[in-house]
Amino acid sequence: MIVDGILPFARKLITSHINDSSIVVDATCGNGNDTYFLANQVPNGHVYAFDIQKAAIESTKLKTASFDHITYHQTGHEHAATIVKNNHDGIDASIFNLGYLPKGDKNITTHALTTIEAIQSLFEITNKNGIIVLVVYPGHPEGQIESNEVREFVQSIDQQTAHVLHYQFINQKNNPPYIIAIEKR
Ligand code: SAM
Repeated sequence: MIVDGILPFARKLITSHINDSSIVVDATCGNGNDTYFLANQVPNGHVYAFDIQKAAIESTKLKTASFDHITYHQTGHEHAATIVKNNHDGIDASIFNLGYLPKGDKNITTHALTTIEAIQSLFEITNKNGIIVLVVYPGHPEGQIESNEVREFVQSIDQQTAHVLHYQFINQKNNPPYIIAIEKR
């Protein structure tokens, strides 16, 4: 396949909106894969990593131990903007990899209400031409609800305020993940 898959395209969107000094947010750090990726992209910037699970924060710390420009926060991403604002004025990119921790407790998952709250507050501190990238997983029951509500919310964003993109393979079976990206105008 030559066309970008979901995760490669999510990363391409992020890299095209940041530079090596960007301030960026991993809103759901999980096992740390996105935090690791971000930390490599912004060697002179800063990465804020959030997750509600202790195990996720520990796993992310372990994976990114070689970096000294990451702060880890065991709290919901709905608090991310408040925390970032204590130290930085604006951010260039945020990534949300929604759902539950792979191989973890499937009951601990992201929820529409707090996801939307986090998107709204992080959008406020996103710089012009910055981006929020969401990888949405509608293939599990809570994910389906979250997918519907998040889509409804992002479709309502004023087109003068942001470009909102939906990237999805529409012939794949079993509700595959897809991307929503919100680029601030
Ligand atoms: N990006 C991760 C990686 O690279 O390994 C995978 C993330 S996993 C699909 C989703 C994560 O979201 C879980 O670790 C879960 O604990 C976390 N989560 C659930 N609700 C959250 C919330 N309100 N704020 C932050 N993280 C949350």
